[in-house]
Formats: sequence, structure tokens, C-alpha cells
Amino acid sequence: MKKIKLEENETIKCSNKVILLDQPVYVSFSLKENGIFLPSIKKGDYVYQEEKIAIKKGNHFPIFSSVSGIVEFVDTNRIVIHNDFKNRVREHKIVEYSLNTYTKLEVSSLLFQLGIINSLDEEEPYKLLSKSVNKTLIINALQQEAYIYLQTFLLKIERKELIELIEAFLEIYNFEEVLIVVPRNQNLLLEEWNLCIRDSRIKMIEIEEYYSLSNTKELIRTIKRKSYRNNLIENGIIVFNVSTMLAIYGALKYRRPQIKATVQFTGNMWKNNCYMEVRIGTSLQEAIEQLNYKRTKEVLLLNGGIVNGKVININDCVIDAKTLVVTAWKVTKETVQESCIKCGKCSKVCPVNLHPSLIMEAIIKKRNLRRFEIQRCIDCGLCNYVCPSNIDIYKNLKEAKEKIL
Ligand code: SF4
Ligand code: SF4
Repeated sequence: MKKIKLEENETIKCSNKVILLDQPVYVSFSLKENGIFLPSIKKGDYVYQEEKIAIKKGNHFPIFSSVSGIVEFVDTNRIVIHNDFKNRVREHKIVEYSLNTYTKLEVSSLLFQLGIINSLDEEEPYKLLSKSVNKTLIINALQQEAYIYLQTFLLKIERKELIELIEAFLEIYNFEEVLIVVPRNQNLLLEEWNLCIRDSRIKMIEIEEYYSLSNTKELIRTIKRKSYRNNLIENGIIVFNVSTMLAIYGALKYRRPQIKATVQFTGNMWKNNCYMEVRIGTSLQEAIEQLNYKRTKEVLLLNGGIVNGKVININDCVIDAKTLVVTAWKVTKETVQESCIKCGKCSKVCPVNLHPSLIMEAIIKKRNLRRFEIQRCIDCGLCNYVCPSNIDIYKNLKEAKEKIL
């Protein structure tokens, strides 16, 4: 795999401030993300904070309300709740549970009942943890891309909670090792963590980052020196990022669903790049009002980073438990799509040595795609990023890949 380093402009910084956005007027929940969900409430109902409002068709995996208030709207696509700002919960008692007394079965069952999701695009934690052979737990605190520091930041500020969870997991699952992977040059963070680690099975791994290393399979290939095409879990390896570990911690420690997410706002267009703790379901519009965002045509808003982020619309984007980063980026090049000029940049940059322009040609001419091995594409988005003709290569490849697989 080619190792591509994305350079960062040093003037773009993120303050270590966490802004709290705790009082959204409305919260909205998609019933079509990650499967089809069926509402269990109707318009006009009163819902408590942390009350179940929908379940997944088929397995009943739940969604919970992040506020108390009146259901303003329900259809098959979404639920909207009008916040009454009272934070009313059915059960007022806050109990702290001891993490290492759980059994494997209890952990999986709680994570399922509380709807804890994996903020990496992988299987939900209750499924991963319920497999019988768990040998290695990897906690991925790498940057996903340039200007994204959220996971390292959370590793810094939530050390006590994370260590408590890791130590409990060592007892419950008897992992042979827990590897915490951090970017190089985080000396202070390493020092602080190493001082607190009491179990020799927990190891900090410092790694020179390159683009797409935070891709789960590439990360494992690099640190375990083994390659896995599929089913990491069958090899006893589980990878969580820090955000997912913290959601699991909240569920096991307080037996409450995740109602807030920490999101990094980054890019060259916010006045204040920062982290924000937001109620799940808050509209992006309401969140970014806090940041003095100036809406102009040249700004691209992305869920994710500048290379692999998905373009989002400020009017219909909602922060959910998988939203980790929102980037506002000033577009400097013309974004009109033109024909391929056969410059070869996409092949040169592709970390797994595919030839995206040839694949695109085959897609257009409806040729058989099998010989191009597009299943090796790791969805990094670099081909799009470098294409001078602004061709959405990645989107086409993704669609073709889904048809083949
Ligand atoms: S997204 Fe593009 S550059 Fe990245 S692996 Fe796939 S084809 Fe290669
Ligand atoms: S980078 Fe764009 S223009 Fe260049 S060969 Fe690839 S698809 Fe064609």
C-alpha cells in the first residue's frame, strides 16, 4: 500500500475548547439510516429524555430521544421532537455500576438494549463483543485525515473513563492485548497514559500516520503485520475508536443510552475551529450558529474530512451518533465536472494501486468489471481529491462495487 501523507496548513488550528450545545429547539431522528426503523410514538405524544422512540425492523435495535418534549412530526423517514427544555427522564436516580462485574452476555445485552452504535462504519459493538474469540482489542485514536484530531483529543480528556473500561474488558473478555494506537509526536499524551497503565497487556502504539491508515484493515495490516480481507472478528480482533469506547462506557457505567455526541468542527471557514458536545438529533444549522459561520457559495460543508467527507446540505443535516467531524472548506478550484484528460493522477495516488480512470471507462462502456478488482478499493476518496476534471470517480466505483459484491 502506498503511503501518502496529506500536508496540513499550519494556520488551521483547532482550539481545545469543548462548546456545549445542550438546548436544541428540535431534535430529529432518521428512520432510514442504518436500516429501517419503525416509530413507537405518534405525533402529539409526550416523550421523556432517553425514552425509546423507534425500533429497527427485524431485530428491534432501538433509537432513544435525546430530549424530553412533544412529538412534532412522524412519518416513515423521521421523527421530530420539540424540546421542552425540562430534561425529564422517567428514572431520576443516577446509579454508577461497577464495570468489571458484568458478564459477556450482560455487556452485549445492555449495549443492544441501549442502542449503542459503532461510530466506525463497522458492526455494532454488541455483535462484535458477543463473538467467542476475543484476543486483541485495538483502540484507534488516529486522525482520519488532515485537520481531524477528535479521537486523540478524546483520548486525552477521557483517560480515567477509558482506563476503567479497558481494565474491565480485560477481566470480562480476557483479551491477550489491548493496543491503543496514537499518532506520533504525542509525547505528553503517551507519558500521561503510560503513568496510568497498570496491566502489561495494555500497550500504547505510536505510529507514523499516512492517509487512510485509520482504515480498519490497513491499520491491522500495519500493526499486526497480517492482512485480513474480511471478518477480522474471526481472527479475534476488535477495533473501536475512542468515541465508540466512550459510548460503551456510558452504557455500562450508568445504563443509559447515548444522547450526546462530541463533534469536531474543522476546516478553513469556521471562525472558531473547536469541539462541540451536542445532543444527538440537533440540526447542523443550529449547531453551527454557535460558530459564526458565514454561508457563501464557495464553501463546501462535509460530514468527515476534506478528502473522504460526504457533502452535506446545511438545511437537512442532523448530527447523529456517527457524526464525528464537520468540515467547512473554502473551494478554490472550479467544481464543474469535465471529461477525463487521462492525466493518470488517480492511478498514481491510489493507495491500493487500482486504475480508477480505466475502471470509470469500463463502467461507462458497461464492460465486465471483474478484472479490475474493485473490491480492493478501500473507499479512501483520494482519486476524487486529486482529479483535475472533478469527476466523482469514487461515487461511481462505490456503486459498481456494491453491484459486484
Ligand atoms: S477510493 Fe479511489 S483512490 Fe481510494 S482506494 Fe478506491 S479507487 Fe483507490
Ligand atoms: S485523475 Fe481524473 S482526469 Fe486524471 S486520469 Fe483520473 S479520472 Fe481522468
